Amino acid sequence: MTAGERSRSRAPRPRMELCLPEEAGMQRHDADLVRVQGESLERALVALEGLSVGDAFGETFLRNPGPAVFRLHQREVFPAPWPWTDDTQMAVGMLEVLAAHGRVDQEALARRFAERYEPHRGYGMAAHELLRELRGGGRWEAASRGLFGGQGSLGNGSAMRVAPLGAFFADDLDRVVDEAARSAEVTHAHPEGVAGAVAIAVAAALAWRSRAEPVDPGGFLRAVAERLPDCAVRDGLAEAQKLDASAGAEQAGRVLGNGSRITAADTVPFCLWVIAAHPDSYSEALWSTASALGDIDTTCAIVGGLLALRLGLAAIPAAWREAREPLPAGEWGRRTS
Ligand SMILES: [Mg+2]
Repeated sequence: MTAGERSRSRAPRPRMELCLPEEAGMQRHDADLVRVQGESLERALVALEGLSVGDAFGETFLRNPGPAVFRLHQREVFPAPWPWTDDTQMAVGMLEVLAAHGRVDQEALARRFAERYEPHRGYGMAAHELLRELRGGGRWEAASRGLFGGQGSLGNGSAMRVAPLGAFFADDLDRVVDEAARSAEVTHAHPEGVAGAVAIAVAAALAWRSRAEPVDPGGFLRAVAERLPDCAVRDGLAEAQKLDASAGAEQAGRVLGNGSRITAADTVPFCLWVIAAHPDSYSEALWSTASALGDIDTTCAIVGGLLALRLGLAAIPAAWREAREPLPAGEWGRRTS
């Protein structure tokens, strides 16, 4: 197709390749689309790449529990392929809605999560219940608020998928807070579930803004905490500020939690501590994250998404990107509803 034909064509795009920044060594498969969507979408795609590689890297240790500890100790990755999980699947859905609407349209997001749902991707029990209800035509408001006896979910699922959103709105932190909260509500109505998403989205925006600058660990954690209401996630960030980088990830996991309870408060402070302790190496941070065990795919997805924003795609080991299962073809360029 010539450039002229492309500019005239507004037909639905059946399949979109990832469009990643040229400066990071990536080929632009659809320059027209990049121009239309602009820098926000490019940033979000960088976050998705870091998130999905982290997700897939972390998942290898959960799938192979026997040799996992030895491999973690030796820093020896498992052979390819590395399948991604629910963290990536929901992040793709999130990004598709942002690309189509330029904001979190909660109705569209619920529908996209339901359409993308594949039961074998490692979803938690409550997510299975919720997504099946949505696929059956249930309303997201009632389904989300109805979980856990009407309290809503305080799980880490709203945080694991949200780095691309923080990247998308990185120019406006107030907007990041608002859109992250709206994205969480669709599945995680409990205030802790909302706070977890807000914390990681704000951290993603700050990670993007911090590129080419040294990170002040305490200042980073405080800046995230300042955006949260009084809650357990914020209490965890206060604890994280007391832990020096030299404490090591395993100790940090014991103090802050490592995601093994699958809650936002048990996951988010630890991940942000890792970022503060290892802000300048994607692989060092992910090995460190995984060494604490727990919900490894999710903790690595969160850390990976944030550090790709700070350090760029070139910081992700090329072999890891090749090992990760290819991402689903995203509908970045057309409306999802
Ligand atoms: Mg997962």
